[in-house]
Amino acid sequence: MGYDLGLIVGHVDEELLCPICADVLEEPMQSSSCEHAFCRFCIEKWIQEKQICPVDRSDLLAIHLVPVSRLMRNMLGRLKIRCSFADNGCAALLPLSEFREHVANCQNNPKVVVTCTKGCGMKVPKDELARHNCIFELREQLREQINEISELRDMQAHQERRLSEHRRELELVQYYIAALRSTNSVIRNVGDQLDRYALMRWGRSLPLASVRTWGSLISTPDTSMHMMVREGLRASGCPMHLINVLMDCCYEDSWPEGLSTLEMRRMNLHRLAQYVTRLLPVLITGKPCVVVLCGDNSHMAENLRPVLGIVMIFIDGVDETHTEQAPLPDSDYL
Ligand SMILES: [Zn+2]
Ligand SMILES: [Zn+2]
Ligand SMILES: [Zn+2]
Ligand SMILES: [Zn+2]
Repeated sequence: MGYDLGLIVGHVDEELLCPICADVLEEPMQSSSCEHAFCRFCIEKWIQEKQICPVDRSDLLAIHLVPVSRLMRNMLGRLKIRCSFADNGCAALLPLSEFREHVANCQNNPKVVVTCTKGCGMKVPKDELARHNCIFELREQLREQINEISELRDMQAHQERRLSEHRRELELVQYYIAALRSTNSVIRNVGDQLDRYALMRWGRSLPLASVRTWGSLISTPDTSMHMMVREGLRASGCPMHLINVLMDCCYEDSWPEGLSTLEMRRMNLHRLAQYVTRLLPVLITGKPCVVVLCGDNSHMAENLRPVLGIVMIFIDGVDETHTEQAPLPDSDYL
């Protein structure tokens, strides 16, 4: 590379010239043995071909290259160079260290990028500005964007096809696992743990709820409430294979012993407030619904702790609370 000798103002000492490019040393490096100096770019390129000094042919490897002496750096630092676009009207006189950046951004550089002020706002090389036609350029841009959109659409359609294939495969795997779980107790245990984890992941997406009146709990939903809860579970992204499991847990005969009768619930009323509950979005207007998930409620007494999750429907008295949620633990939760 090197700085163009023709642009330097005044006399340049010969030792400041690169023997390879014959211009003024740029990022100079010297051989630690023979002390000949070169531009870093020039000598690195040279060494890829030959491992000898281009001046005296002594051995020269990349590890022998060191920065030049302070004296030489000072001499280079005193040189002044004109801008490459002096002929285009630039009067700048620069130290070598500022040359490259100045030239790249020099307003007299015909290739410097400027913003079109005729309306399109595109960035155009200065020397093309005269020929630049906003409408033509914008039309080009539009055409490119239309192509891009159609490519993205194709890609999206492809991804959707793959997604539905994956969903079908997942369903098959789930049937298979269900079959295994019914016949093997180890797999049943692992499966239960995975279910609890899947429910917790889903649960994290639901807002926390606070129940004001536990007395308004409905223990046996009618058909329309049942439908409403199912719809709410589905719409909130509850894992598909657990919807039926949770639906069964809408009824008091599937609840833990401490909730299983009205008497038990009355007896435990003061402890129910310790439940961590999550609000279910219910599509059909009606009763507020909460889920009480195993993973949220390990602090509860055993006779009140849900195996997986309980769905509770209330007549009223449920509010959404905005509490900061701790991140979901990974494997240690299992
Ligand atoms: Zn050079
Ligand atoms: Zn040498
Ligand atoms: Zn300039
Ligand atoms: Zn324009």
